[in-house]
Amino acid sequence: MTELVRDTLTLPNNGQKLLLHSCCAPCSGEVMEAMVASGIDFTIYFYNPNIHPLKEYEIRKEENIRFAEKFNIPFIDADYDKDNWFERAKGMEMEPERGIRCTMCFDMRFERTALYAHEHGFDVMTSSLGISRWKNMAQINDCGERAVAPYPNLTYWDYNWRKGGGSARMIEISKRESFYQQEYCGCAYSLRDTNKFRKSKGRAPIKLGVMYYQ
Ligand code: SF4
Repeated sequence: MTELVRDTLTLPNNGQKLLLHSCCAPCSGEVMEAMVASGIDFTIYFYNPNIHPLKEYEIRKEENIRFAEKFNIPFIDADYDKDNWFERAKGMEMEPERGIRCTMCFDMRFERTALYAHEHGFDVMTSSLGISRWKNMAQINDCGERAVAPYPNLTYWDYNWRKGGGSARMIEISKRESFYQQEYCGCAYSLRDTNKFRKSKGRAPIKLGVMYYQ
């Protein structure tokens, strides 16, 4: 295993307290370890009503809790208000990944994160979502900036978690921790489309709860 060497991080705008929107353990593992290594005071906010079905949601959340407990990082288990998510996704069911449905999905999750941050004395927020190479970082950062816009004392930190070997460390930590390895982005439509793609390649549909990093 390679040594996990990172730059020391400092929060933007002299921030003191950060709220990390976390989508899952594999994506937030490196982000969390990097912040712990830099002595950043942070709390995890798990708000992901997009994840479908409930079984997958529970597995992803429990994996994240398990890792947070290892470092004694506070973990906020926010609502699973999936009905609101489906309501907001109406008319976008057939949109491709990285399209407008994903913008809605990031907006919804970040709006709630920003509100919580504002109401609980956090001055910086960021997300683990951008570390995944499957995501469009500019799209995520736009949503982050939009979410903090109503709150003058809250900064969105657009740090590129992929750089400086972050992507490789994300995989390394996932293997070390034997994290659950989700095989689709999260929503019902991404599950449908991933299975469609797999079928076209002669692969079996996704089985929930069986694949772990090793
Ligand atoms: S594909 Fe992923 S980011 Fe896009 S709407 Fe579905 S869960 Fe959200």
